[in-house]
Amino acid sequence: MRCPFCQALDTKVIDSRLHAEGSQIRRRRGCPDCGQRFSTYETAELVMPRIVKSNGHRENFDEDKLRRGLIRALEKRPVSTVQIDSCIQRIKRQLQSEPDKEVESRRIGDHVMRELKALDQVAYVRFASVYRSFSDVTEFIGEIEKLSDG
Ligand SMILES: [Zn+2]
Repeated sequence: MRCPFCQALDTKVIDSRLHAEGSQIRRRRGCPDCGQRFSTYETAELVMPRIVKSNGHRENFDEDKLRRGLIRALEKRPVSTVQIDSCIQRIKRQLQSEPDKEVESRRIGDHVMRELKALDQVAYVRFASVYRSFSDVTEFIGEIEKLSDG
């Protein structure tokens, strides 16, 4: 990369090491032209894709909404908060690995179905029976919330 001091086109990496518990690489660079040294940091770009709803509207991924939906489906089931958390982490990682910057909301629904199937059969059936009649997971979560408020 270009030297930030003299704008020379080429700089050399002198040293690189893991930083921030391994989630970052810090590179020490030197400019052969002006002799200045500086650091660059490299991190993985993990961005949540935007969610495309069935009506074409876009919205940001909402982790709280996902959590609420899971908790509702798992109501009175022997599933711990830790299990729900790791469920959410797995779904997020899958979404982060999507090649596109946008995913259809039903993909989230599919991920939730897969997670619940492995976690708790009753919650899975509960989720699947309602979810299948909805085109949109956001709509579904809204409906589940209404059901359990009553
Ligand atoms: Zn320079």
